[in-house]
Amino acid sequence: MEIADRLRELARNLYWTWHPEIIEIFRDLDPALWREVNHNPEEFFDRLDPKALAEKTAELALDARVSLAFHQMHNYLEASGTWGARHAGVLQAKPVLYFSAEFGLHESLPIYSGGLGVLSGDHLKAASDLGVPLVGVGLFYAKGYFRQKLDKDGWQQEDYFVSDVHKLPMTRATDAEGKPLRVRVRTRPSTICAEVWAAQVGRCRLLLLDTNVDENTPDDRALTSILYGGDRRVRIRQELVLGVGGLLAAEALGICPGVIHLNEGHSVFATLAAARMMMQREGRNFDDVREKVSAMTVFTTHTPVEAGHDRFDADLIEQTLGPLREDLGFSPRDLMSLGRVDPDDQSEPFCMTVLGLRMAQRRNAVSARHARLSRAMWRRVWPKLPEDMIPIGHITNGVHSKSWLAVPLAPLFDRYLGIDWQERMHEPQTWAGIDKIDDEEFWEQHQVLKVRLIEYVRRCVGRQEARRGGQPVEDRLDPMALTIGFARRFAGYKRADLLLGDVERLERLVNNPHKPVQIIYAGKAHPDSEDGKRLIQKIVRASRRPALAGRVVFLEDHDMNVGRHLVQGADVWLNTPRRPMEACGTSGQKVIFNGGLNLSIPDGWWAEAYDGSNGFVIGCGLEHADADIQDRIDRDALFDVLENQVVPMFYDCNSKGIPYRWVARQKNAMRSLPWRFSARRMFRDYTTQCYLPAAGGRTCFLP
Ligand SMILES: *Cc1c(COP(=O)(O)O)cnc(C)c1O
Repeated sequence: MEIADRLRELARNLYWTWHPEIIEIFRDLDPALWREVNHNPEEFFDRLDPKALAEKTAELALDARVSLAFHQMHNYLEASGTWGARHAGVLQAKPVLYFSAEFGLHESLPIYSGGLGVLSGDHLKAASDLGVPLVGVGLFYAKGYFRQKLDKDGWQQEDYFVSDVHKLPMTRATDAEGKPLRVRVRTRPSTICAEVWAAQVGRCRLLLLDTNVDENTPDDRALTSILYGGDRRVRIRQELVLGVGGLLAAEALGICPGVIHLNEGHSVFATLAAARMMMQREGRNFDDVREKVSAMTVFTTHTPVEAGHDRFDADLIEQTLGPLREDLGFSPRDLMSLGRVDPDDQSEPFCMTVLGLRMAQRRNAVSARHARLSRAMWRRVWPKLPEDMIPIGHITNGVHSKSWLAVPLAPLFDRYLGIDWQERMHEPQTWAGIDKIDDEEFWEQHQVLKVRLIEYVRRCVGRQEARRGGQPVEDRLDPMALTIGFARRFAGYKRADLLLGDVERLERLVNNPHKPVQIIYAGKAHPDSEDGKRLIQKIVRASRRPALAGRVVFLEDHDMNVGRHLVQGADVWLNTPRRPMEACGTSGQKVIFNGGLNLSIPDGWWAEAYDGSNGFVIGCGLEHADADIQDRIDRDALFDVLENQVVPMFYDCNSKGIPYRWVARQKNAMRSLPWRFSARRMFRDYTTQCYLPAAGGRTCFLP
C-alpha cells in the first residue's frame, strides 16, 4: 500500500483525533497548511501537492511512523479482548443506539455548540476505546453552529459557512441494494426525506441525518442546516427527523438496538417511533409494547435551566406528529398527556423532558446535585411518590482524557503511572504515582504548556486585531504570570462577567506589581441571545481599559481547538455559575488532566469533587432568592479567595523558585480527580448501571 493511501485511510477514521502520533504526522507534512485548514485532514490532503508529500515523507523519513500508526490503528480496530467483549457481550448483536442533537468530536467537524456536544463526542470515543458496541445518531448541520467574529465594538457577528461534505470524514450510508439510503418521515403537510451520512469514530459508527435532498420542499431542505437555529417549527421538525428518522435509519441499516440512549430531550420522539415499530411488527397496541420500549430506553437529562427543556404547544405537536399519533392509535389528547406533567391539564404544553421521563425506565441526571434538583423539579410527574423516591439517578459526566491531554504529558504519565495507565484510569491507585514526580519536573512541564498557551493567545489576538483594524493593544501577556482561563458558552447563568462587577478591584488584582494576574476569556453567545452578546461586549470593552488592556483578553470563535489550548495551559480554571444552574460542567474536568487548578462555585461536578485541597472553592454554597444579591455575594467571595489564597499561593516559591504549595495542590488534584471524572469511568457506569440491565431486562435503575 502506498504511503499516501495509508495517510488517507488514517484520515478517514476519526480515531486520529485522539491519537497525537497521527496528528503529528499530518502537521509535520505542512504545518502552515495544517493550521490553515483548521486541522481537517481531508481538506489537507486534497490541497497538499503530491510532489510535496513525496518529498516531505522522504525528508522526514515518515514511512516508519506512518506504518506504525497504520498498524496500531488496525490492531485497535480489530482487537478482540476489549473490556466490552468481556463484559458487555449481550450488546454485540444488539448495540446501544445513542441519540444526541450535537456531537463534538473535533473542530474540523463543526456539528456541536458546547458542552452537550463535546460530551456526546467523548461518549462515543470512550465506547470505542472500551469496545462497547454503540452507534451514534445525530443530524448533519451543513452550516454548523456558526463562526464567531466580533466587530470593532465587541459585538458578536455570526458567520455561517457551508461545509463541503466531500471535505468531511463521512460517506453516504447505503441501503441493501447499495443505493444511497433515504429515510422518510411522514408529517404535515409533507413527508420529510433525509439522507444518511456515516462517520467512523474508532470502532463506533456515527449516523448523521441530512434533509438537504432534492425531493424535499425548500423549507425542509434547510431544516437540518443550522444547529439550534430557526423557530419552534424548525426545532420540532429537526427533533422529529433526529428521533423518528434516526430510528428508521438504524433499522434500514440492519441495526437492531438492544438499548436506546436519549442524550437530552431533543431525541425522545424516538421512543414513540420504537413503539410504533414494535406494534407493527408484533401486531399489538401501544399499551402492550410500552413496557418493552421503556425497559430498553435510557434517558439523560442535562440541565435545570427551564429554557433548556423544549416545550411545544398542541397545534404544533399535532401538525408535526399527527401521522405518527394515528399509527399509535392515540387521540391528540392522549399524545399531549404523555408530554404533560399533569396529564389532565389541557393548558400545559408538550414537554420533551416529560416524555423522556415517562417513556424511559432508566433516567439519570449528570451529577449528584443535579439529580437532587431534578427530582425536585420533576416530582409532579410522579405525584404519588415522595421526593427522595423520584426515580432519577445520576451518572456524573467525565471527559475523554486522550482528547484533552496535552501531548507532552502522556510520556510523563507513562513513566510514573505505568504504561497501561489509560486502561486503569478509573482506579484511584493508578494516580498515586503522581507523588513520585519530582516537583521541579512537574512544574517545568506545566510551564512548558503555559508558554505554548501564551504564544497561541498572542497569535490569535494579533490576527483578531489585524482584522478588526483597531488600535493595537500593548502585549502585556507574561508566561510567568498567574493565568486564569474561562471558556464556555455565554449563557447568562454562567456569569462570565462576575469579576467585572468590581472593576477597580479587578484592576488592582491584575496589576499587582510583583504578583500579576492575566485572564483569558472565550465563548460564543447563542445568535438570539442579546444578553449573551452584551456579556461578551462587556468583557471586550473592559479589556480595552488602559489598566486591563493586554492582561484581560477575549479570544474569538471558541471551539474545541481554542478550548484545548486553554485547558492545557491555564493555571486556574474559573467557573462561576449561579447555583444551582450548572448541571455538571465539563471544561474544568479537562483541566485536571493537565495540571490546572479549578476555582469554582460549588455547583455541578465541583460540588462532589472539591475536598479542601485539590483546587479552590468560591463561597460556601449559600443560595439567595435575589439573583443580584447572590451575584454580589459570590463576586466578593471570588475576589476574597483570589486575593487571599490563589494569588499568594501561586507566588510563594521555595529557594529553587518552585511554588511548592501550589505544586502540592496540583498533585492533590491529579491524584484525586482524573480517575473520578474520566469518560472511561462514566461510560463504564452507563454500561453496568444502564445498558446491561436495559439490554438484558434485569434490575431497575434507582438513585
Ligand atoms: C468542554 C467544552 C464546553 C463545556 O463547558 P462547561 O461550561 O464547563 O460545561 C463548552 N464548549 C466547548 C468547546 C468545550 O470543549
